[in-house]
Amino acid sequence: MTNQVWTVGRILKWTENYFKEKGIESPRLDAEVLLAHVLKQERIYLYVHFDEPMEAEELAAYRECIKKRVMHVPVAHILGEKGFMGLTFKVTADTLVPRPDTEILVQAAVDRLRSLQESGAGAEKRHIADIGTGTGAICLSVLHYLEGTMADTVDISPAARAVAEENAEALGLKDRVTFHTGDLLQPLQGMTFAAILSNPPYIPEKDIEALAPEVRLKEPHTALSGGKDGLDFYRRLAKDAPAMLTDGGFMALEVGIHQAEDVAKLAKANPLITETEILPDYAGIDRVVVAWRNRPEKMQAEPAEGTGDNEKAENAGTEED
Ligand code: SAM
Ligand code: GLN
Repeated sequence: MTNQVWTVGRILKWTENYFKEKGIESPRLDAEVLLAHVLKQERIYLYVHFDEPMEAEELAAYRECIKKRVMHVPVAHILGEKGFMGLTFKVTADTLVPRPDTEILVQAAVDRLRSLQESGAGAEKRHIADIGTGTGAICLSVLHYLEGTMADTVDISPAARAVAEENAEALGLKDRVTFHTGDLLQPLQGMTFAAILSNPPYIPEKDIEALAPEVRLKEPHTALSGGKDGLDFYRRLAKDAPAMLTDGGFMALEVGIHQAEDVAKLAKANPLITETEILPDYAGIDRVVVAWRNRPEKMQAEPAEGTGDNEKAENAGTEED
């Protein structure tokens, strides 16, 4: 670096090039997001202050962020938070960073729960479970958008549970959630739910090596590995969750690429499941499986996203997990 003044514009350009050199996937975006974070401003601020010189402390703080990012620490871990469903969630190295794809699951759950509740909700239609809650992104978003809904969450990681609890508190939802630490449905034995939601670990063990270093090295392995074929958690959920659904309730599961048909089949193998739906994500990849225990007739007439079993959207997107 020369002793020219480091303006916002100049440091951004330098960082973008450095990130590119180091193989960071979105160099310009990351440079901007991190600088906006250091300056405690929105990204748009950078564009109207290109010529503004940086203070020494700001430069020092930005340099720390740059160092972490080239070590493949995810941007969300550096910021300590991630936006999801229009809300902000604290994230740490103990939690999966909530992904945009998971918003499909939340939206599907909110739509269906709202219809269930509008069709004459008893208290039992207002209680949901979120299995493998991580930051709490799924269940806390559902609670935020559906007043009066209550939730129980489970995660095997006490550290993740602590983060989810902090998020519940920050979002003003603490009184509507009960947190459990344990193995899948085990802590919820004897309870029933209108919806059981889960984004379980689903990466096949052999595919973990090929994940981006940000995911493979920096996110918890317990949040990613779904066993040999990636379907371990679906097998267990398909076997045990339907008996914990109220009549007319559903299970909604996020799935990885090429897993939707297998997961729907696993769900249908449970005699309590009468109908399944497969919903695509924005890239056209089948992303969510909904499995109903006696879908109410009223709701069969107008499926929310129009992608029932027989009218599954064509896969047109790029292949991603
Ligand atoms: N629900 C969050 C989300 O969508 O962003 C996190 C999903 S992450 C893919 C899976 C989560 O399941 C992790 O938080 C992990 O700790 C948890 N998990 C892994 N094995 C589990 C088990 N046997 N029982 C309960 N939770 C488990
Ligand atoms: N979608 C995540 C990824 O590709 C995986 C999350 C999961 O296993 N449920 O990194």
